[in-house]
Amino acid sequence: MPETATSEEILTKYEPVIGLEVHVQLGTKTKIFCSCPVEFGAAPNTNVCPVCLGLPGALPVLSRQAVELAISAGIALHCRINPFSRFARKNYFYPDLPKGYQISQYDQPLAEHGYLDIVLPSGEKKRIGVTRVHMEDDAGKSLHDGFKDSDRYTYVDLNRSGTPLIEIVSEPDMRSPDEAYAYLTEIKQVMQYIGVSDCDMEKGQLRCDANVSVRLRGAQKFGTKAEVKNLNSFRFLKMALEYEIERQVELIESGGKVVQETRLYNVDLGKTIGMRSKEHAHDYRYFPEPDLVPLRVSEHWLHEVENKLPELPADRRDRFVREYGVREYDAQVLTLTRETGDYFEVAAKASGDGRATANWVVGDLVGLLKAAGKTIAESPVRAEHIGELVALINKGELSGKLAKEILPKMFESGEAPSVIAEREGLKQISDTGALEKIVDEVIAANPKQVEQYRGGKTAVLGFLVGQVMKASRGQANPAAVNEALKKKLG
Ligand SMILES: [Zn+2]
Repeated sequence: MPETATSEEILTKYEPVIGLEVHVQLGTKTKIFCSCPVEFGAAPNTNVCPVCLGLPGALPVLSRQAVELAISAGIALHCRINPFSRFARKNYFYPDLPKGYQISQYDQPLAEHGYLDIVLPSGEKKRIGVTRVHMEDDAGKSLHDGFKDSDRYTYVDLNRSGTPLIEIVSEPDMRSPDEAYAYLTEIKQVMQYIGVSDCDMEKGQLRCDANVSVRLRGAQKFGTKAEVKNLNSFRFLKMALEYEIERQVELIESGGKVVQETRLYNVDLGKTIGMRSKEHAHDYRYFPEPDLVPLRVSEHWLHEVENKLPELPADRRDRFVREYGVREYDAQVLTLTRETGDYFEVAAKASGDGRATANWVVGDLVGLLKAAGKTIAESPVRAEHIGELVALINKGELSGKLAKEILPKMFESGEAPSVIAEREGLKQISDTGALEKIVDEVIAANPKQVEQYRGGKTAVLGFLVGQVMKASRGQANPAAVNEALKKKLG
């Protein structure tokens, strides 16, 4: 095991190959096969019934809402939605699995052959293949601590048993922890965007396992992979992958062989620990679920779900660039959440200048929101008012500098920029008469600089512009000041 860091040189000889299996909890009100509520934090074993307790004779009934959310996810991941899919029993024994099997999908999943485009930290785009999306139910939860006899007993809470999940299986298309991070980020964003899930990792609504192998750069064949489980935060995903890649490289470099096994990421140790090797792998004895009819998705139903879907983040990003002339980076930030994108569109329509509006939203407004610990939905500044602010600048009624002074006041009071400007007398001086008067005063007060300028030292102009701006308390229009000074100094 790598106690000392493997040298960069050795690491770059190898190429990591990563595929992710992402579990997303569907945002239904009830469980997938019964009408028990899905509720985080309820008293243990209160949201249960014979179906999700796995009592003999209880029969599952598939939730229509769960299927529709799963179809939505499949469409958003550009998958083919299979008109015919089937549930299968995945048999294994675990104390928090009262049925003795999980109802999942095996050889006939709901959705297949999709992809997701990710944006890397460098700004480069990459397409990651999505092998399949299938539906399944969640197990309960073993509680290993928190009780006074926790040293001897483990308790089981079955509230989570039967919670609807989808599993999104990617192709082994990722080549670095950063790419895996970007992919999981994009999955989360897309699922939140289309209302499939809140993807709250702390509530277990987004979980991730990774298949990791390494091979010499340029090699065609994949190396032997290890499955790393328990990657339940973005940070841990990256840390675990970095550790696992280094471990495998070091193992190979020292003449060893990577064995196919399941490894668990131990957060406290910062290491992946081997759990079971291939010889001890589960044989799940999958077979078609006899208690459920096959799932048929008609064209009509598919279109119905499709029509309800909002614009996807990647499409919206492209549209913001195309339609509003927004920079790629700004478009990226503006589509992080649906609310931010909605806010921007209202503001851009009000200002008539998308690019400048994007600047104000992504820069100053997001900064103020962050400092106040607020989301854009809670913004005291209305989108229309940001639009008005930009329009006032474009009309020459406010300078950029004045606008920057006004925005925090808008944030405080929620007032329109024109109202604040009016009350505080913060209007840009565009009136030539008033401007000329200040220019004359500045020329009269700085004879030395005026002489220098006339003697050919034109760089002095900047100083004089500064003096006029100062005398006008920042309210003069810098372009107009420049022009007026040049004319007068002639
Ligand atoms: Zn139930």
